[in-house]
Amino acid sequence: MSLDTPIEFLKGIGPEKGALLKKELGIGTFEDLLMHIPFRYVDKSSIHRIGDLNEMMPFCQVVGRIDSVKVIGKAGTKRVTAILSDDSGSIELVWFKGIPWVQKFIHPGLEFLVFGKPNEFKGKLNIIHPELETITKEVSLGGKVKMQPVYSTTEKLKAKNLDSKGISRLLATLFEKIGTGIPEVFPAYMLNKFKLMPRGKAFYEVHFPTNMDSQKAAENRLKLEELLFIQLKLLRLHNIRRQEIKGHAFGKVGHYVNTFYKEYLPFELTNAQKRVIKEIRQDMGSGMQMNRLLQGDVGSGKTIVALMAMLIALDNGMEACIMAPTEILATQHFHSISKFTEELGIPLKLLTGSTKKSVRKEIQTGLAQGTLPVVIGTHALLENWVSFPKLGLVVIDEQHRFGVAQRSTMWKKNDIPPHILVMTATPIPRTLAMTLYGDLDVSVIDEMPPGRKDIQTRHVFETKRLEVFGFIRKQIELGRQVYVVYPLIEESETLDYNNLMAGFEAIEREFPRPKYQVSIVHGRMASADKEFEMQRFKKGDTQILVSTTVIEVGVDVPNATVMVIESAEKFGLSQLHQLRGRVGRGGNQSYCILMTGWKLSEDAKIRMETMVRTNNGFEISEVDLNLRGPGDIAGTQQSGVMGLKIASLVTDQRILVAARNIATDILNDDPTLAKPENRVLLERLNQLDVERMNWSVIS
Ligand code: ADP
Ligand code: MG
Repeated sequence: MSLDTPIEFLKGIGPEKGALLKKELGIGTFEDLLMHIPFRYVDKSSIHRIGDLNEMMPFCQVVGRIDSVKVIGKAGTKRVTAILSDDSGSIELVWFKGIPWVQKFIHPGLEFLVFGKPNEFKGKLNIIHPELETITKEVSLGGKVKMQPVYSTTEKLKAKNLDSKGISRLLATLFEKIGTGIPEVFPAYMLNKFKLMPRGKAFYEVHFPTNMDSQKAAENRLKLEELLFIQLKLLRLHNIRRQEIKGHAFGKVGHYVNTFYKEYLPFELTNAQKRVIKEIRQDMGSGMQMNRLLQGDVGSGKTIVALMAMLIALDNGMEACIMAPTEILATQHFHSISKFTEELGIPLKLLTGSTKKSVRKEIQTGLAQGTLPVVIGTHALLENWVSFPKLGLVVIDEQHRFGVAQRSTMWKKNDIPPHILVMTATPIPRTLAMTLYGDLDVSVIDEMPPGRKDIQTRHVFETKRLEVFGFIRKQIELGRQVYVVYPLIEESETLDYNNLMAGFEAIEREFPRPKYQVSIVHGRMASADKEFEMQRFKKGDTQILVSTTVIEVGVDVPNATVMVIESAEKFGLSQLHQLRGRVGRGGNQSYCILMTGWKLSEDAKIRMETMVRTNNGFEISEVDLNLRGPGDIAGTQQSGVMGLKIASLVTDQRILVAARNIATDILNDDPTLAKPENRVLLERLNQLDVERMNWSVIS
């Protein structure tokens, strides 16, 4: 019996329930049903004394004898109560529904195993709608099923008798039918070496646990299986890319790199930057396609690394582009890169949604004639008319804002794929990166340029705004500049916009012209106006920049030392961290002030505390992962399609690391899984839906 058999063929299901199971829970096959594992278990292992029960206890189990049964009330409000006692006390059982059944089966003198939640009602304990089982010999011997599985289900399924118990019955039917016919997908040597429960037994034990230990062992085995195959897939993809996909071999370090390095490098590179540039050079020189993720905290100096990579491509007669997710960020890159390219005499153009037609024409011609080697832009770069005859390198900044499809557009434009450097300032916990970017090589800039002082962060309630204004004034007197950022949440855009304008007016009153100048930038402004205001701030013509999160990425004003974040509780941790990274870019002590109301959720409190405690992006992203789960972490929106059914990236990090290590060892020993003992692994890999794992393919 194949596990691929459609679920409707299971006894008791049929086409209608089958379709419903598919629609509601995604259960389409026998295997899907097996994979629908309980989300918790009710511990029925201990039997309480009735006299010990109290209303604070969760679901518990007692054994007692029925003393009396009463029907109370008229039709509509009718209920049945029964008194259950053991030698320690008694408790009332109450039913509002299923009364005919109760009247038929519950009689004084009978003994039952009763399971339910004790409640207090008018000073007395009762259990509403308890589960009852007649006492059998096993129960009195304590040999009963002790952990009852609880399955997720839906109202529609419940209406078709497929509540948690109904699903459990389906699984019982399934196991009757397939018996031990669940094929193993791990090689025997793995089972032995890691003392793993065989697959069939593991599935049985998660659905019908013998005891807590075996349930745990079963669950761990299935989690390892799920994670191991993902890792095998990713690592193999990675190996294939390295071995089979040809890339441009950039062997030369030539004029541009040398001139830049000798004459224009504005500072000594940090060791981390040097190391990463070396890794990139090796990749680009290897003849294979580079697929590298560059992680580095805000301000760690990724731009110069991207520039060097571009220069390598140019030295080898090829072209390069940088793609950024927003117009502001693209513009920012354009300005910082063009400082260097001008010195080197390299033509450079900016292409965004608002680029004028005439300039587009110039870009098109420049690209076609091979006279424009570098373009920096937004996803406008992906438009059909943009075609680089000799694209050697694509740098993608803030990778998570681009969809997989957009990235592959870039890739498809040339016969030999360009090298890809993905940069992200949102550090991702190592374990998560392992799963999300398991097929990319990862470089990390884990060192800040010298002379940086840690940004001091304070959490301040909104009632203290005047003090904050005082602080701002002092910083401005020292010649520094200040950001004030307001949240902009789509659902309440108008409200947020009003807050922003009110805030702006308050600041203008507090910091009046002509002594002070205040800029404002928000999404409703025309991009030329935005750019104008940004430039005023950059040049130091204005001291305060009030904005929505448009400045979240890519503004570089070293003289700015204060970041005030209004309604900070509305921001997620990674966003707060990004915003904070806008200051502390020069040598001066910088500050981040998180303004919130008094009422904060537990999560919001943790977010504020974390920000105050640490400047370390990796530490922050770990907290973020634990608070929000991987699905919400910036950069991992894809994880919804990651398809993890059993394992969790938050709670199963140890198993994930184990899976990664095991997969690495296996592939080191047998890269193509050609050895007979690994055949089962290969077969399973091939069988696993390729589409389901496509999320991981970055470019
Ligand atoms: P990010 O990684 O956030 O993109 P940037 O590349 O914008 O960081 O660099 C942040 C700031 O640090 C810039 O002003 C840049 O000129 C400066 N910088 C980068 N590397 C160094 C270095 N090795 N020494 C001193 N300053 C540096
Ligand atoms: Mg940057």
